[in-house]
This record gives sequence, structure tokens and C-alpha cells, in this order.
Amino acid sequence: PLVDLRGKQALVTGIANQRSIAFGVAQALKQAGAEIGVAYLPINERAESKIAKLVEPLSPTLMVPCDVQSRANMEALFDTMRQKWGGLDILVHCLAFADRGDLEGDFSKTSRDGFHLALGVSTYSLIEMCGLAKPLFRKNGSVVTLTYLGAERVVPNYNVMGVAKAGLECSVRYLASELGPQLGVRVNGVSAGPIRTLASSAIGGITTMIRNVEMNAPLRRTVTQEEVGKTAAFLLSEAASGITGQVLYVDSGYAIMGSPVFGDGAP
Ligand code: NAD
Repeated sequence: PLVDLRGKQALVTGIANQRSIAFGVAQALKQAGAEIGVAYLPINERAESKIAKLVEPLSPTLMVPCDVQSRANMEALFDTMRQKWGGLDILVHCLAFADRGDLEGDFSKTSRDGFHLALGVSTYSLIEMCGLAKPLFRKNGSVVTLTYLGAERVVPNYNVMGVAKAGLECSVRYLASELGPQLGVRVNGVSAGPIRTLASSAIGGITTMIRNVEMNAPLRRTVTQEEVGKTAAFLLSEAASGITGQVLYVDSGYAIMGSPVFGDGAP
């Protein structure tokens, strides 16, 4: 393993299926020796038993349904953690949602409800989770959330989710400032390149986004869930003990480019 997370208890949110970035993160944490807990969105019994089967190899010691839109669900999740684990070392926030209709067309047509939904699920959930986790965190605890370049630059169709991610990245800084002083808890974001998942398929033109990265990113390919997982594990480990409040790009270098390339070797 690249880093050592033995003896750490890690709650991973956002696993929906084998393509979920959260699953890549959970696998990396498990490989590093962490004990895994899973909080998942309960859609229906079939989906729940699929998730249970998927995470079986990670031998999770917690498996808790949690819709982040429900305060009661959130409180129950952290209550369970307190009772079963007695504390928490690692929190992975890897979830987001927006109405499909708000992920295409004119940004100015974003609906009031759509705005509240996207920001509530994708941004406020991190703030609320950190608030509930605060009394549970052990010394040198650590949080990672997932974000995207659309927070800082205009990416066609990303629309309201760009605003949600901008708020998320800003929240990373405020939370890092609040949680650092007493127990040394660190809060960071990973800004991942486009990856085909359930969530990203809701964004109009994800295929074009991926193709664009394959043509223009320094590494000429997009990234994998495993690569995002490795970096999250690094940020969550003592190897990153001096890093907090940051957003780290795992995007094949795409974000550094100021223009599309003009063709390999021939400007
Ligand atoms: P995914 O669909 O596998 O994961 C999204 C998760 O959010 C799902 O597990 C879903 O159950 C959960 N979720 C949605 N609404 C919820 C709610 N109300 N309560 C609890 N959970 C809820 O897709 P993904 O691409 O792995 O997304 C994970 C994170 O990565 C998101 O924050 C996403 O914005 C971010 N991200 C994705 C990409 C990409 O290209 N896929 C790039 C950068 C960042």
C-alpha cells in the first residue's frame, strides 16, 4: 500500500455502484488498512442489496442508510457511529445531485427549487456532516470531498452544479479553519477529471467532456476511480499531515491548460 491507514475508522459516503468514485476511494482506504463504514442513499431494497454485495469484500463494520436531505437520517448516521465505533478518523464526502433539467441549457433558467436541491444535497451536506462529525473526530482526523473544475471555470451544461461545487470548495476552506486548531482535523477537496458514472451521465455531453480531456490534457487521457482513490487515501493519511483547506487536481493535468492543443508536436 502507498500509505498506512491501519487502525483508522473511515466513513465513506456516495457508493451507488461499482463505477462510483466513492467505491474507488473505499477500495484504496481498505488497501491501506482502514476499517470501512458505508453510508448509502436508500433508494429501494434491490439497490440496497446490490450495494451490500458490492462492498462485501471491504468487510464494512458499519452499513447505514442516509439521505443527506434528512436531518433525522444524518443524526442517526452519526449516532450509530458514536455507538458502534466510539469515534471517527476519516470522513469521505463523495455525493452530489441536481435535477437533470438544470444540467443543460441556459444557466439563467435554473429554477429556485433546483438551486436549493443542488446546493442542499451537494454543498450543505458537507457542512452538516462536518458539524455532526466534529465531536466524534479523533486526533488528526481527516475529511475529503469530491469537486470539479466547473466550480472555477465555465464548463458547458455543468451550470448549477458549478455553483454548488464553488460553495463546496469554499466550505472546505472554512471547515479546515474551524476543525484544525483543536484536534488537527484536516479538510481537503479532490478535483477529479470527468469519469463516466451514474451522476456524470446526467450532465449533458459527458462523452464530449471526456473526449476533450483525452485530446487536450497533458496526459492525453482522463483519470480513473482508482487514481482518485489513491490521492484521497494520500490526503487522508499522515503522508499529507501538513495539507489542509486545499483542492488537489486529479485530472491528467487538464486544469493547467490555457488553450486546446494545436496537434501533437505541431503548433
Ligand atoms: P455516483 O452517481 O456514483 O455517486 C453520486 C452519489 O451521490 C451516489 O452514491 C448517490 O446515491 C449519492 N447521492 C445523491 N443524492 C443523495 C442524497 N440525497 N443523500 C445521500 N446520497 C446521495 O457518481 P460519482 O461521479 O462517483 O460522484 C461522486 C462525487 O464525485 C460527486 O460529488 C461528484 O460531483 C464528484 N465528481 C464526479 C466527477 C465525474 O466525472 N464523475 C468529476 C468530479 C467530481
